[in-house]
Amino acid sequence: MFCPKCRSEYREDFTSCTDCNVPLVSELPPESKPGFVDYKEVLSTNSPSDRALIKSILDAEGITYFFQGEYVSAYVYNAIPVRLMVREDHVQKAMDILKDLDLSFTFGGLSSENEKDED
Ligand SMILES: [Zn+2]
Repeated sequence: MFCPKCRSEYREDFTSCTDCNVPLVSELPPESKPGFVDYKEVLSTNSPSDRALIKSILDAEGITYFFQGEYVSAYVYNAIPVRLMVREDHVQKAMDILKDLDLSFTFGGLSSENEKDED
């Protein structure tokens, strides 16, 4: 028998945990994995200036994120959009903040603005 609270193991003749005073269970529920977090793509951009701005905003808001493909695109400038990946439980907050910005990124689709390189 196990205590569902402190996860101590007891002999069969025990019915409640002496420490927690809760009824024992025959099987413990699967342990949650606090280390595991899912990341979702919020937007993609191939503008380094947008990326810098997004970083400063998300850092200030305490949002957990990373840019996927950031280092790849450094070599193929503007060819491959970098994807902003935000921790699942921060996605809504991130989108609320970012949707009000006037940037050239789009949420998962094609860019509406094209930056021109001026030679
Ligand atoms: Zn206990």
